Amino acid sequence: MKKYAIANWKMNGDEKFLNNYFSEIAIDINLKVNLVFCPPAPYIASFAKLLNQNNLHVGAQDCHYEDKGAFTGDLSASILKDLAATYVILGHSERRQYQFETSELVAKKAITAQKHDLIPVICVGETLAQREDGSYQEVIKKQLEESISWQLNKEFIIAYEPVWAIGTGVTPKFEQIKEVFALISAYQPNVSILYGGSVSSKNCDEFAKIENLSGYLVGSASLKASEFSKIALSLQ
Ligand code: PEP
Repeated sequence: MKKYAIANWKMNGDEKFLNNYFSEIAIDINLKVNLVFCPPAPYIASFAKLLNQNNLHVGAQDCHYEDKGAFTGDLSASILKDLAATYVILGHSERRQYQFETSELVAKKAITAQKHDLIPVICVGETLAQREDGSYQEVIKKQLEESISWQLNKEFIIAYEPVWAIGTGVTPKFEQIKEVFALISAYQPNVSILYGGSVSSKNCDEFAKIENLSGYLVGSASLKASEFSKIALSLQ
């Protein structure tokens, strides 16, 4: 499977940050890991212009499920493609929580994304309460069933991101990630499966040993070019 380190910058960064970041990123042209940078949407085009290697890509953090129309403030997959994005994160837990996105909506967005040649990165993951009450396996299975449409006919990626690990500095144990990865790869073989949630240069070497792990979706640690480079290197 293809390997990925995906940087989700969320609502952070500006023009100066992007230029500095690019000059600090130290990634060998021969690295067999795809690096995908997902800046805030207005910076997609300018960041894409800085990238000069085949393994470096730009992605978006969301897209609308319609091709176009009266959706004030939203961005379509075709606009993002036009800006030079080639990937799009969908169903991130922050969008599920703050924008009340459902798995059904995520499924529709992923179909539209593929139609416009964007590779969807579909996020799933349980809350702390669901982990603690033991329902997490059912929750993740349901998210997979509802977020991944049979109409998907090109590459897509699944990111397992336990909500309780995102931005908290707390990570699941190696065995806990391994268990969920086994569940996801049994449900959906032949896709790249990423782990996300407080990944850093300190824990990436350990997680990289997980069977079926094709990489990481990284939030906070991706804001530092040197840190993100180390995380990417752990995957080669
Ligand atoms: C994320 O937001 O997708 C994420 C994994 O964040 P963090 O690495 O900060 O936990």
